[in-house]
Amino acid sequence: MSNYDYLIVGSGLYGAVFAHEATKAGKKCLVLDKRNHTGGNVYCENTEGINVHKYGAHIFHTNDKGLWDYVNQFVEFNNYVNSPLAYSKNKLYNLPFNMNTFYQLWGTITPKEAKAKIEEQILLFGVKDPKNLEEQALSLVGKDIYENFIKEYTEKQWGRKATELPAFIIKRLPVRFTFDNNYFNDKYQGIPIGGYNKLIDGLLKDIDVQTGVDYFSDKKKFDKQAKKIVFTGKIDEFYGYKLGILEYRSLNFINEVLDTDNFQGNAVVNYNDAEYEFTRIIEHKHFEFGKQAKTVITKEYPQEWDINKEAFYPINDAKNQALFEEYKKLSLQEENVIFGGRLSEYKYYDMHQVIASALTSAKKELS
Ligand code: UDP
Repeated sequence: MSNYDYLIVGSGLYGAVFAHEATKAGKKCLVLDKRNHTGGNVYCENTEGINVHKYGAHIFHTNDKGLWDYVNQFVEFNNYVNSPLAYSKNKLYNLPFNMNTFYQLWGTITPKEAKAKIEEQILLFGVKDPKNLEEQALSLVGKDIYENFIKEYTEKQWGRKATELPAFIIKRLPVRFTFDNNYFNDKYQGIPIGGYNKLIDGLLKDIDVQTGVDYFSDKKKFDKQAKKIVFTGKIDEFYGYKLGILEYRSLNFINEVLDTDNFQGNAVVNYNDAEYEFTRIIEHKHFEFGKQAKTVITKEYPQEWDINKEAFYPINDAKNQALFEEYKKLSLQEENVIFGGRLSEYKYYDMHQVIASALTSAKKELS
């Protein structure tokens, strides 16, 4: 007997938004999560009064006013602006690549000088039709920036040669000819005041939630409890990996509580050189302008993924993408299962994109 209209597997942003919308439309939802908390990878853990982004730093940004208003109805967002620094060859630089970076790297003063320098660097390589990440970077920013900031960082992050990675990964890196260190181009940006758990708690308010429960431990039993399933886990796992395993890149987060109120003066400092095994150090208190006596930092070590590790970044190369398309074909035949989110769609998603995707699918489903 089904007691629920929807069984939602996974309480990350996709699952929580879908559950909220369905409940608002008068449907009864049960949300399951195999972790012992809700929120998926946006979950924060409180240490020394600081919201620690347990599964990696999350900075919300969007150009969509509707989406910004949507998240702000559950928790007010602060005016944090992400301005990461890059530590390369014993020097600190501003990111994203902008007039400050060019000045620090080459001493160029005007946009005209910086543009000329970059054009000269790009011409050194003359890549016209970039086919991989290395060629994409060289054709966009040239040799010096590629070698100082991109090559080593990218290769440790992804555990693969930059020539073997898809170009789209660094389309996220903007280049500007203004002295503007804002990492994102979007109109709206911030961090929930009091942490992301407030957003998730707001979305899941008054909804039945069970944590520490693995859907696959008794799929048949859970399936009987609802008319429809919303599945936000790994699509290949849903099908028992029968066509093969989709690959990911994983991360190992090493947290330290330090007896200082300010360790690095910024939330995000990238360590671009290969000699550091971690890619960045996050100092969480700066996301919320914290004044605590201590600080918590996280070193982010990329690591090879296997089926027992957390799946963070999908590896959207040709091989994995083709396998995903096969799983997708299977999923389109399901009448009672909706697949969505980073793991089900095998997509390098930002938070605003996941929320938009969940809202679209909820609207389609519930109308
Ligand atoms: N990247 C880089 N150097 C940097 C920062 C980023 O080469 O200092 C490249 C790298 O390939 C990375 C991609 O840009 O995988 C996206 O990085 P970003 O920090 O924007 O994404 P996140 O890891 O936070 O999702």
